[in-house]
Amino acid sequence: MRLQRNGLRCTPGRLRLLTLLSASQRHLSPAEAFEELARSGHAVNPTTVYRTLDALTAVGLTHSVHGPGPARYGITGEPHHHTVCRECGSVAGLSSRHLTEAVDRIEELTGLRPDSEGALLIYGRCTRCST
Ligand SMILES: [Zn+2]
Ligand SMILES: [Zn+2]
Repeated sequence: MRLQRNGLRCTPGRLRLLTLLSASQRHLSPAEAFEELARSGHAVNPTTVYRTLDALTAVGLTHSVHGPGPARYGITGEPHHHTVCRECGSVAGLSSRHLTEAVDRIEELTGLRPDSEGALLIYGRCTRCST
């Protein structure tokens, strides 16, 4: 079990949040995670959601991305960069394997090798906000 390997007790709340974040296309703010959990019939205290996301992030199972608005949380798994909508603040993962050429080019131009895990933040407008 991933939680136990990372030194966290495997509570139903932690598992539910990890499952929710794995299933989500987007990275979620604590408020969005809370809403999703409530919608699926698991009313949790919002403070618990904050604390759980903090605990999961502290051991590296999840990570946070700070764009406009509240931080968004995503699951740490396949290496990915992030897209950030300037309007609504939504954050999505973008697999690092789609960007190897961009990363090579950045290194060529600057000498800096971006990390494969979340180093690039690409700002713009999401599909919802550009219509
Ligand atoms: Zn992410
Ligand atoms: Zn947007």
